[in-house]
Amino acid sequence: MEARPETFHAVRCPRCGWSTDPSFDPPSCQQCGAMVEPQIDLSAVEVTPSDLDARPFDGLWRYAELLPIEASAAVSMGEGGTPLVDCPALADELGVNSFALKLEGHNPTGTFKDRGATLSISAAKALGVSDVALASAGNAGHAAAAYAARAGIDAHVFLPARASFTMKAMVNVHGGDLTVVEGRLSDAGRIYSDVLAEHDAWHPVATDDTPFRREGKKTMFYEVAEQRSWSSPDHIVYPTGGGVGLLGMYKAATELSDLGWIDSIPAFHAAQSTGCSPVVDAFDAGAETIDPVERPDTICGGIEVEAPGSDVELLSILRESGGTAVATDDDTILDSALSVAELEGIGIAPTAAAAVSGTNALVKRGDIASDDDVVAIATGTGLKEPDVLRGQLMRHGI
Ligand SMILES: *Cc1c(COP(=O)(O)O)cnc(C)c1O
Ligand SMILES: [Zn+2]
Repeated sequence: MEARPETFHAVRCPRCGWSTDPSFDPPSCQQCGAMVEPQIDLSAVEVTPSDLDARPFDGLWRYAELLPIEASAAVSMGEGGTPLVDCPALADELGVNSFALKLEGHNPTGTFKDRGATLSISAAKALGVSDVALASAGNAGHAAAAYAARAGIDAHVFLPARASFTMKAMVNVHGGDLTVVEGRLSDAGRIYSDVLAEHDAWHPVATDDTPFRREGKKTMFYEVAEQRSWSSPDHIVYPTGGGVGLLGMYKAATELSDLGWIDSIPAFHAAQSTGCSPVVDAFDAGAETIDPVERPDTICGGIEVEAPGSDVELLSILRESGGTAVATDDDTILDSALSVAELEGIGIAPTAAAAVSGTNALVKRGDIASDDDVVAIATGTGLKEPDVLRGQLMRHGI
């Protein structure tokens, strides 16, 4: 069985344009060192929006014609196909025409990391590897352990001590090999790199090691566009750590635009916490690259990333799409998670709530107008960190 479709015809560097033959384990760009991206030959794509409309909305592999792996070679358990839920009460409170949340908590392990995992573990399986490894803040490790289990691959997961109990526990539950490292994601990342270097058989699937996670996360935008009858919202606000989802969604938006399926590309905004805001700092400074944060410290583990690897690409996506970057503090972020839960009945992850408080800040400073349509990506469910959400109520004496 050939896992690579003919339409996956090259890998290309988004930074300088260098390209080479397609591969499930492509090298970094030989010219500038950036991570390359799989390229789909859009002129050879035969599926149409009406074909897609006729398919059940049952997961991301329904976009197989736009993905670099054959659906028949997928390690899948129904990820994607998540609801886009209109939130009128929040829209009123925020002062925008419409506000919708893409509920990624509906994925098998409770976050959108499953979209990355289905592609990256499918690619690893197609390569025939025995082991995968990654460092993660928690959710990506949980997802990788689950998908590796399904693929019959051993997973080695390095998490910081501050990852939530659920994330650590579930790596164990899926049979993963868990290493808990004192400190933060960057500390886990250092140990991971050291151990990885000693194990030739381990295939790395951390954020900056494989482009297939980005390729999986791009399907969030296909779905948003399709759920809006093949149109872009004015704005997409995204809780940004490594920025994998932003990179993927922007790629998807350019693909759909090139295919002529959508008329416009939305403004992409990066929402961060003031406790770790390297993207915001670089954006505001007009910089081309991102300096690492010295001491990242936010309760939003998913976005506690001191230095996104694809920094040049991230900043240019924000600027080219007419978006921006915004940071709100942890207290405000957690309060907005409570607002979403109370006003709309939806329990979202603390990290995801940065996109809601970020939207509020963007409206206040005039980057989002009162007649605009906004989609925020609720990257994970609140059920993985209910203690954090309940704890915020305690701060209010409840
Ligand atoms: C990983 C994660 C993020 C950030 O994702 P990136 O695409 O790497 O920026 C946001 N929210 C949650 C819940 C996460 O687990
Ligand atoms: Zn390059």
